[in-house]
Amino acid sequence: MADDLHTRYMHASDAWRAHRKGCSPCGSGQHCPDGIPLYQRFADLQDAFLRSLRTRSR
Ligand SMILES: [Zn+2]
Repeated sequence: MADDLHTRYMHASDAWRAHRKGCSPCGSGQHCPDGIPLYQRFADLQDAFLRSLRTRSR
């Protein structure tokens, strides 16, 4: 289950970084309409993933 979350997090991270690399607004922190959902997904999954790491280690 955690591995699945990790996989989704990695995919979202890859997609976001690939977009940001080729997109100057996103690269400078001003998300374009295409970048917003990619960034949101990445941020949400990163949140969930970090939370799951914390709960698993206790
Ligand atoms: Zn963009």
